[in-house]
Amino acid sequence: MGALRRKLTRAGLPGLLVTYAPDIRYLCGFTGSNAAVALTRRAARLFTDGRYTAQADEEVKAARVEIVSTSPAVSAVEWLAAQAGVDASGFDATRTTVAELARWKTALPVPLRRGFLAALPTPFVEQLRAVKDEEELAVMREAALMGCRLFDRILGELKPGIKEIEIAAELEHQARRMGAEGMSFETIVASGERSAFPHGHATQAALPRRGFLTLDFGIIHKGYCSDMTRSVFFGKPKPRERKAYSAVLEAQEAAVAAVMAGVSASEVDEAARARLRREGLAEAFSHSTGHGVGLEIHEPPRIGTGQRTRLQSGMVVTIEPGVYLPGEFGIRIEDMVQVTQSGGQVLTPAPKALIEL
Ligand code: ZN
Ligand code: ZN
Repeated sequence: MGALRRKLTRAGLPGLLVTYAPDIRYLCGFTGSNAAVALTRRAARLFTDGRYTAQADEEVKAARVEIVSTSPAVSAVEWLAAQAGVDASGFDATRTTVAELARWKTALPVPLRRGFLAALPTPFVEQLRAVKDEEELAVMREAALMGCRLFDRILGELKPGIKEIEIAAELEHQARRMGAEGMSFETIVASGERSAFPHGHATQAALPRRGFLTLDFGIIHKGYCSDMTRSVFFGKPKPRERKAYSAVLEAQEAAVAAVMAGVSASEVDEAARARLRREGLAEAFSHSTGHGVGLEIHEPPRIGTGQRTRLQSGMVVTIEPGVYLPGEFGIRIEDMVQVTQSGGQVLTPAPKALIEL
C-alpha cells in the first residue's frame, strides 16, 4: 500500500476508491465478489456484505473490515467523504460504469457531488500489479510448472479419433486433481483445419489422423494464472508444415531472447514479427506477441506493435507468436517469461521441438 499511497500523493489525491476484484485481492487479500476498498493516507478499509464476515476475517490483511447491508462501494464513498482532510478521491475510470459513478455521486452530500470523485489519470493498482514481488513470482513459477506437468500428462491421451472436448475435459480434470483452483481461461483445443482459429475452443471435432493440434490452457494457483500453448502434429508433417513450425519456433525464441528490463514491449514484438516476415508469414501472424499475466490472465503490459511500455524487472509476460493459414493449419507456441535485469527467464520449460504423434 506504500507505493500506492505515494502514487496518490503525487496525483494530489487524499483518497482512493477501489472496486475491481483483482485489485482488491492484490491490495488486501480478500477474494469475495462484493467488496470495495477505501484508502486514505492513514487508513484502509474494506467494505463487504454479511455473507463474507468469516471469510473477510480470515483473508483480509492491512485493512479494517466493515460489514455493510447496502452497496459496499456506496458505503466506501460515504466513508471517504466523512474522513477529515479527504476532499477528493480517485477511482479507476476503466473499471467503472457510468451507472455506478452516478450512484456513488448520489450518495455524496450535494456540495461534493461535482468534484469529490476524480478519475485517476492511469489505473494505479493495475500498474503496481504488473511488477510482481518475490512472493508473487514464487507462486507464478509454481503455477507455470503445474501447467507444464499437465501438458506432459495430456500428451499421453492425444490420439486420433478422440474429441477435442474430451481432451479439454481431461486436462481440466487433471488440473483439479493437481490442486489447481480452476482454469485461468476457457481451454483451447483446436485440431486439423480448426488449428487456424487462434482461439478455437474445444468442440465435438475428433482429433485428425494427420495435422496440427494446438493446446492453449492455463490454471489458477493461489490466485495467479498460468498460460502456455503448444502445437503438436499427428502423423508426418509435410515440408511446408515443418517449415512453418520452425519459423514460429524461431520467432518465439527470438522474442524470448529480446526480453529484458528496459526494452520496450514493441521491440520484443518486432523480434518475433521480423522472423515471420522473412518467411513471408507476416500476414499469417494476426495477433500481438504476448501479454502480462498475474492475478488476471490478461494484464498490462501488452507485447504488441507500437507498445512503448518499457519492460521492468519482475514483470511476467507471455511470448506467443503464431501463424494461421485458414483452411490449412495453425501453429502457436507460448511460454511465460519473467523479466529480469539480465534477460527473460522462461517459466514454462515444456519441450518446444515439434512433437510428432
Ligand atoms: Zn495462452
Ligand atoms: Zn496468452
